[in-house]
Amino acid sequence: MEGVPAEELELREAAFAHCAELRRVWGDSVPAKVLWPGFPFRGGRVRLYSVQGIHKPKQGEFPLTLLTTLASPYHDELSQDQTSIRYDYSPRDYLNDGVKRASELGLAFVYQVQVKPKPDPEYLLVSPVFVDGWDDRTRTFFLSALPESVADLPPEPELVADAAHSLPEHEKRTALRLVEQRLGQAGFRKEVLAAQRNRCTVCELRARPLVDAAHVVPHADPRGTNEVRNGLALCALHHRAFDTDVLRIDPDAVVHVDEERLAKFAALAPDALRRRDPAAVHQLLDHHGRPLRLPKDPRKRPDPELLRLRWEGRLGA
Ligand SMILES: [Zn+2]
Repeated sequence: MEGVPAEELELREAAFAHCAELRRVWGDSVPAKVLWPGFPFRGGRVRLYSVQGIHKPKQGEFPLTLLTTLASPYHDELSQDQTSIRYDYSPRDYLNDGVKRASELGLAFVYQVQVKPKPDPEYLLVSPVFVDGWDDRTRTFFLSALPESVADLPPEPELVADAAHSLPEHEKRTALRLVEQRLGQAGFRKEVLAAQRNRCTVCELRARPLVDAAHVVPHADPRGTNEVRNGLALCALHHRAFDTDVLRIDPDAVVHVDEERLAKFAALAPDALRRRDPAAVHQLLDHHGRPLRLPKDPRKRPDPELLRLRWEGRLGA
């Protein structure tokens, strides 16, 4: 790219790769204490800290991150034609001009959307994003993303450089819909984990990146909403076991483990499973018949009616 120092491009490429890696580990809720210290770069560290608004790392010539706090609801930020995200900037921010200059040079940014409030805020990352244009009267930047920046792939550097202004409208819309879905999921996860004490309700594992918010009634069913009462905090293993019906939950929130099914998955005779697969015993069969570890407050527990629908298999697609 003409007029852009090589080091600036290198820094941004490193930032996008770093964000892709954070997303791989933490999904759409990266804790501030993981995000803000940034990443090593040329013997120093590029910080990604920004309490709000626009941030320029000291190693760079241009701003790198744009941050939206929880106070600004995302739905207000989608543009009318659903092809860009509206980002309202502060009149006092001297970095606004830097964003404009960088975008005129074709540089991309990291967009951070707060999905969990203080004291331990978490962020969804969309990177790279492009500033397609702005409106000085309303002080709005119009951001767009590549489908790749909202998927699980680290972006190709050439793609990043070329795609900014040539992306077809329908691809922009697809990318935005994915961002919207990711925000919905991140919100659901935050609510469910907070309600259910941030640990797996089967085994009590509390390593946050390994704990999911599972839907009791799956999303594909019209009753499969993102309400807390349709959510279960489950570790990756128990989530998978729940999705494959090895582990089932009855309407009274008691765990049932299907030993026969598990033996079939292990390609073992039912009477050989306990002898030959101690991990299956320890991690699954030992939980059979136990109640889920749930809070007493019914507003924080899965709705027994939704548990019943799932238990009885009365689900539509
Ligand atoms: Zn678990």
